[in-house]
Amino acid sequence: VAKEKGRNRFKLFYPSMAERERQRFTLETLLKKAIENAEFELHYQPQVDISLKSVIGAECLIRWNNDQLGWVSPMDFIPLAEETGLIHDIGDWVLATACERLRHWEETQAPFNKTCSYLAVNVSPRQFAKKDFAQRLRHIILSSGLQDLSMLELELTEGCLMHHSYESIKTLAQLRNIGVRISIDDFGTGYSNLSYLRNFPLDTLKVDQSFVRDCIADSKSRAIVKAIISMADGLGLSTIAEGVENHEQLTFLQNLGCRVFQGYLFSKPVAIDEFEAFLNESISVLAKE
Ligand code: C2E
Ligand code: MG
Ligand code: MG
Ligand code: MG
Repeated sequence: VAKEKGRNRFKLFYPSMAERERQRFTLETLLKKAIENAEFELHYQPQVDISLKSVIGAECLIRWNNDQLGWVSPMDFIPLAEETGLIHDIGDWVLATACERLRHWEETQAPFNKTCSYLAVNVSPRQFAKKDFAQRLRHIILSSGLQDLSMLELELTEGCLMHHSYESIKTLAQLRNIGVRISIDDFGTGYSNLSYLRNFPLDTLKVDQSFVRDCIADSKSRAIVKAIISMADGLGLSTIAEGVENHEQLTFLQNLGCRVFQGYLFSKPVAIDEFEAFLNESISVLAKE
């Protein structure tokens, strides 16, 4: 019976495996052409300092719009880009686009410089692990003409620093020399050895949105959020809570001493025009107060 069951299951399983392989291949083929066809776009999600009541920065999130597939979520194509190595070209495109935007703001001074002082870009582990990552970044920054390099923040994940290798320490030191800001994204969800917090020069921990989501209903998530914020405090790092969707979460996190927030409560990630309008609006609201 077991054998029969197994055979049946195999029959059902096999076509779906093949189908998945085909889908993956299609996705990979289309992804390869996406940069030259200009199918990517950056969206911007504000980071709000609640005590200043202003937008102090934004995270850049990549969007892919393909004729055949429509909008594809980064959750669906970033892992594939990592596996295939396409992440290096995609990552360079993201960094170049963010630097050009920053340079434009630097030149025109408004509305960006009023309160908002940085853009954060996601860097995936394989991208970070490439030996010439810092070199490529330096080149991208130079080509953009950007002057104030503290306007660029790199969001690394625990996965980037997990191996604690000579190479990753060297890359981090190079990034420090360049002068960009460094934050740890999705903090608390990686399987990392915390000693990197002692050895690496960082600026910010981003409390993962899964803990933020559950911090009202689940006492364990609450305990983890408390511990992360107090640890960051002790280490002299700032914290950002991501995925904040309602006032209960905001109040709870504020009471723990967190000041900077990112989430749907304030804004979804939006296209550049909408983001600039949001900045202008929050500035005029502030001016009225
Ligand atoms: P992430 O860096 O942790 O980004 C946060 C994700 O949470 C974004 O999803 C954002 O849209 C979403 N989010 C923000 N606020 C809320 C909220 O209040 N509630 C909920 N439910 N979600 C919220 P998105 O844009 O789909 O990106 C998913 C992930 O894809 C990112 O997670 C990041 O790991 C990766 N990613 C996005 N853009 C890039 C990129 O340019 N390069 C690389 N390497 N990875 C990227
Ligand atoms: Mg991020
Ligand atoms: Mg995150
Ligand atoms: Mg994430």
